[in-house]
Amino acid sequence: IHMYKPLVAVVGRPNVGKSTLFNAIVKKRVSIVEDIPGVTRDRIYFDAEWLGREFTLIDTGGIEFVDKDNRIFTSMRYQAELAIREADVILYVVDGKTGIQPQDREIASLLRSSGKPVILVVNKIDSVEQEMNIYEFYGLSLGDPVGVSAVNLMNLGDLLDEVLKNIKEVPVREEDESAVHVALVGRPNVGKSSLTNALLGKERVIVSDMAGTTRDSIDTHWRHDGTEFVLIDTAGMRRKGKIDLPVERYSVVRALRAIDRSDVAVLVLDGTEGVTEQDKKIAGYIHEAGKGCIIIVNKWDLVTKDSKTSLRYTDDIRRELAFLQYAPVLYASALTHQRVERLADLVKYVSEQQHMRVSTSVLNELIADAQLTNPPPTRGGRPLKIYYLTQASVAPPTFVLFVNDPALLHFSYKRYIENRLRETFGFEGTPVRIIARGKKGEDE
Ligand code: GDP
Ligand code: GDP
Repeated sequence: IHMYKPLVAVVGRPNVGKSTLFNAIVKKRVSIVEDIPGVTRDRIYFDAEWLGREFTLIDTGGIEFVDKDNRIFTSMRYQAELAIREADVILYVVDGKTGIQPQDREIASLLRSSGKPVILVVNKIDSVEQEMNIYEFYGLSLGDPVGVSAVNLMNLGDLLDEVLKNIKEVPVREEDESAVHVALVGRPNVGKSSLTNALLGKERVIVSDMAGTTRDSIDTHWRHDGTEFVLIDTAGMRRKGKIDLPVERYSVVRALRAIDRSDVAVLVLDGTEGVTEQDKKIAGYIHEAGKGCIIIVNKWDLVTKDSKTSLRYTDDIRRELAFLQYAPVLYASALTHQRVERLADLVKYVSEQQHMRVSTSVLNELIADAQLTNPPPTRGGRPLKIYYLTQASVAPPTFVLFVNDPALLHFSYKRYIENRLRETFGFEGTPVRIIARGKKGEDE
């Protein structure tokens, strides 16, 4: 199922406590699939869950922009505009200790005229006595302020309740449930638009506005080799002159949106540059979201090559994006159209891999053989006993391993089972999840 995950943006002046609040919510209520080293560091977005509802939380205070001369800067105004354009709900954080500042009024009026649901959060209300400080913020005309203390974790539940009230049920995915949804994501200037045009050049395409989701985005539908595809627009690629903000440094917001809606995400890298921190962040999100992934190294025409160049580049990718070992890598050029056609085939292939189902009997042969070759290690003298393995779902393929005690399943053994699954069945381009379940039903 494809959930449209609402985006909740945190906006406010520096030092009002945005990142403290962000981390407090994350610490309390977040379900993270996996902790990926190198990706989780100073992250500005998180998938959060409250009362069974999922949303993505983003701290706009961490979003940087680049100006014409490629200088990096932050701007609260731009952050707010970005939030207005992209978010479903805005948490506008103000400082209960300093009271209303001139800039607060400016941003408040911007938010008021946006038509977006805004929750006014008065932070640093650390005790009951300080609740008096909340009242002056009625002056911002953004409705009832919610007093919280990010440091003392006070009133966060009420705040999250308020968030849920403002999240509209958005259709899971409107039409084309069976079409393969593809998103081309990556840093600015890596060639996403050029690849899109190269990819669609020869196909018959229908461009349609996507109602209900990101207003600016235009999805493109096309058929290739008997399969329906929908290309999800990122960064307003196919609409010229629409984006008036300076380039968002991490172009993260659009990318997250597109990845959430996709089946297969194509991570576009610039062949003339190595893998950057920013590439890693986007890659980490694709992996965590459980999406299919293809890595395309674009502008390959510009690279001076010898027989080992692509091997070296692949090594670099495998090292820097170690969690994406399963993603196929394609060296391409949007300019010369080299291997662009391969991309469509590969998307189709990865989507098939994501939907592959393996029967329990076949899985149990595999698990029996895997244990013979490499018996499960003991932990503290206690052996791990594996009863059986079964596939619970597809996209991503998710397996449940029934064992005597999930705590005994070491990470490395889980990895070993994953590798055996991949050797036998492929699952190319898709993450594979293994959940250990104990006798009492508790998961690992
Ligand atoms: P940001 O720039 O908006 O992300 O603000 P930070 O989260 O970095 O916080 C700025 C300062 O305010 C830090 O010194 C925090 O410890 C402090 N702070 C954040 N939340 C609270 C709070 O609930 N109560 C108090 N007293 N201080 C807070
Ligand atoms: P986007 O911001 O990721 O959509 O990137 P664009 O598609 O706008 O491309 C950025 C720049 O790189 C443009 O000047 C393109 O002409 C150029 N470019 C894109 N792909 C290629 C390629 O494969 N080879 C070469 N030589 N230039 C390319």
